[in-house]
Amino acid sequence: MTTRRDFLKITAASGIAAALSASAGGAPSLNSVGTTQTVLGAIDPNALGFTLAHEHIGDAPEVLERWPDAWGGKTGLIATAVDRLKAIKAAGISTVVDLTTYDVGRDIQFLEEVSRRSGMNIIAATGQRFSPPRSRSVSMPARTTDGLAKYFANEISRGIEGTGVKAGVIKIGTSARPTALEEAGLRAAARASKATGVPIRIHTDAANRGGESDAVILEDEDVNPARVSFDHSDDSGDIDYFLGLVRRGYSLGMDHVHRGLLADFKPTFQRRAECIKAIIDAGFANKVFLSSDSEFGGSLLPEETRDWRENIDAAEGMLFTARRLLPRLRELGVSSDQIHVITVENPKTFFRRSASE
Ligand SMILES: [Zn+2]
Repeated sequence: MTTRRDFLKITAASGIAAALSASAGGAPSLNSVGTTQTVLGAIDPNALGFTLAHEHIGDAPEVLERWPDAWGGKTGLIATAVDRLKAIKAAGISTVVDLTTYDVGRDIQFLEEVSRRSGMNIIAATGQRFSPPRSRSVSMPARTTDGLAKYFANEISRGIEGTGVKAGVIKIGTSARPTALEEAGLRAAARASKATGVPIRIHTDAANRGGESDAVILEDEDVNPARVSFDHSDDSGDIDYFLGLVRRGYSLGMDHVHRGLLADFKPTFQRRAECIKAIIDAGFANKVFLSSDSEFGGSLLPEETRDWRENIDAAEGMLFTARRLLPRLRELGVSSDQIHVITVENPKTFFRRSASE
């Protein structure tokens, strides 16, 4: 039986889809179902290959506006990004998912250029990091939840900032107990995902079981958990937390593993690797993503931390997964087939655009 509440939810999602269809060129085109949107266009998900599911290639344009010489200026940053992406590609990684949203300095033309010059597939994100900021010309906190959802859906179906380059994933940042504005972002992501068929990745405070708080909100929006990944999950070392979420159908992004190499970051590298193995052993290899949450030009970190990041991202940044984590997982007994599932098959399924609901 459809309750009045269900009815309102259904009409909210179809209302967003209808709003997109109403203006020229806005409708999610039927033939985009089954494809994956990269910054250079829609591709067959079979072409994604080894995919890093949570990275930031560069979130620096606002820093460069004020400190034009940082990272050797824009030209220097582009050169660095292209060089590093080529090195990563040479290591067998063929897709990088950039989860830099507009409010932390996403530069869509930068992503398009470095993708073209490096040959790396890049999937760009819509969404927002935590609470919608008041900065820029639009006061995002004044938007309604459906207003935010339409904004996200527009970036997926029409393009980002007038470029025609489209987002292929929705990223949302939440605290352990989401604020009212974070909750609005989460609900908006849910509605935009249902309207467009694009999946959601969430920055969670896993150490404080943030995924569980987010799941309550997402389930209230009737989102299919198979379309959601709780990222930074390895900041928890609690197997019960992991298994509770994967049994409900959610995926887990294990993308802070390098942090465990630092003395003051817990869990340790070893513990994080053991947790990944435990999730696999429980039968949930199909719910794990690996990545390293790296960046080549980071605006969010203080100068000294940026140096730390450059050096500590295990001196390898986006190569960390292939060079350090996978060998450790193999030592723990994870098979090549399981690694293939995690690094190739899961992204292929997750980033494949589903039909809108
Ligand atoms: Zn991130």
